Order: sequence, then structure tokens, then C-alpha cells
Amino acid sequence: MTTTTTKTAPRIALVTGASRGIGAAIAQRLGRDGHTVIVNYAGNAAAADAVAATIEAAGGRALTVQADVADAAAVKSMFDRVEAAFGGIDILVNNAGIMPLGAIGDMGDDTFDKLVDVNLKGTFNTLREAAQRLRDGGRIVNFSSSIVGLYPPTYGVYAATKAAVEALTIVMAREMRGRSITVNAIAPGPTATELFLDGKPQEVVDRLAKQAPLERLGQPEDIAAAVAFLVGPDGAWINGQVLRANGGII
Ligand code: NDP
Repeated sequence: MTTTTTKTAPRIALVTGASRGIGAAIAQRLGRDGHTVIVNYAGNAAAADAVAATIEAAGGRALTVQADVADAAAVKSMFDRVEAAFGGIDILVNNAGIMPLGAIGDMGDDTFDKLVDVNLKGTFNTLREAAQRLRDGGRIVNFSSSIVGLYPPTYGVYAATKAAVEALTIVMAREMRGRSITVNAIAPGPTATELFLDGKPQEVVDRLAKQAPLERLGQPEDIAAAVAFLVGPDGAWINGQVLRANGGII
């Protein structure tokens, strides 16, 4: 008979875009679960430091590392730095993302390029490093969105980048055969962060919050709990899947 462990052995977890929002909640949750957490950020060093400080105040271990995930050389240097500090990486959470919206007919090249650079190429850049360097038995969680499936107007290019992330997730799960590395994606619904709330009038926020049968917005901690499941011992048999964490919106 096999026994199921309820506690994960402490591991080294890299969370991209962890200076605020969902990524910050994931970093804090993984820190509480006993993992050493690398808090990646793009521009906001003070916010990343504050996240690392809360992890350490709770008895955990954290390191902040600046890197624009869209920059392949910066991502490689980040992996080098983490390996030099901790000897390896076991968990990669590809949370960093942006969501400028616009109808396809109105979208400029700059916005299109930025969405593809951060959401798609950014995820590719870290996956490529992880494919070469993640330790056996590792876990990868990518970030899609429930917009893939809902497909409302103005979300076309954002949804396209996230659908592409789902494709990378499934192919990479197959490419990790033999290494006991799982690769999954989380697809949150509306979640109360700057990315979702910025620029939306309160009545739009209220309407979107009521769409799910659970009749509220997701909180970053709801999404962090789903990530903790996938990277923890109870998620060991989940591989190559997209988990919609959205209160039932789709
Ligand atoms: P936020 O805008 O609140 O936070 C984004 C985080 O990503 C920040 O820490 C930011 O760092 C970082 N970031 C942005 N660009 C880069 C980059 N080029 N390189 C490294 N880090 C970067 O977003 P959320 O927390 O809401 O979103 C997290 C993920 O969840 C995204 O992938 C998003 O698409 C997805 N998602 C969110 C939903 C929602 O309703 N909130 C719904 C569905 C999916 P800094 O501040 O330092 O620039």
C-alpha cells in the first residue's frame, strides 16, 4: 500500500509577477506552506520587498529578483541567480501577465506586441529555462484566464495569448515524460486585483462579480489556494490540465 504524504518537502519556488495581486498571494501562500520563494517582479522593487518581508515575518524564506519575463536573457540570469543561491528550482509559477484591452479593429501594433511579449513569450522564456533546469519531481503552473471560453468583445488579443499558454502547457506536460514534472494551467475568473479593477466603473465591477453562481469576485487567496493544491502532494496526479478557478462563471 502506498501512503499519501500530507506535507510537502520544502522546495524552491519561483513565482513570476509576485510583487502584487495574485502573484503576491501565491508567494505568501507557498512561503506559509514551507517553500523557499523567489519573488520576481518587473518594476516595483518596493512592493516585491514588502511581499518578501511578510513571508520572512511569518517564518519563511524569500528572495526578490527583478526580471522582465519578456526578456529571454533576463530570465536566464534570474534562473542562474536562483540556482547560485539555492542550488536549484523545483516549482515554477508563471503568473506575470498584462491585460490591455481593445477591439481587434482598433488595436495598435504596440499593444499587440506587448501582450504577446509578456503573456506568451514571457511564459515561453521561463518554460524553456525550466525544461532544461527544473529538478525532477518539479511542478509548473502557468496562467491562462477564464476569458478563454467566455471570449467577450475587446479581449481578443489577451485571450489569444492565454489560449496559446494553454497549448504550451499541454505540450510541455508531454515533453516532461520521465522526469515526474507536472505542467498545468490555472484559468482564473474575475479576481480583485489592479489588473481587473483598474479603469472599470463600480457598476461594471458589481455586474461581473454577480456573474458567477457564487456571486462574488475571486480573491487572490482563492487562486493561491488552487496553485498550492497543484504544487503540493495532493496535486501529484494532475498533469496537462487547465483548472478554471472562477466560482463557476464558465
Ligand atoms: P496584477 O496587474 O495585479 O499584477 C501583475 C504582476 O505581474 C505584478 O507583480 C507585475 O510586477 C508583474 N509583471 C507585469 N509585467 C511583468 C513582466 N514583463 N515581467 C515580470 N513581471 C511582470 O495582475 P493579476 O495579479 O491580476 O494577474 C496575475 C495573472 O493572473 C496574470 O497572468 C493575469 O493574466 C491572470 N489573470 C488575472 C485575472 C484577474 O481577474 N485579475 C483573471 C484571469 C487571469 P511589477 O508591479 O513589478 O511591474
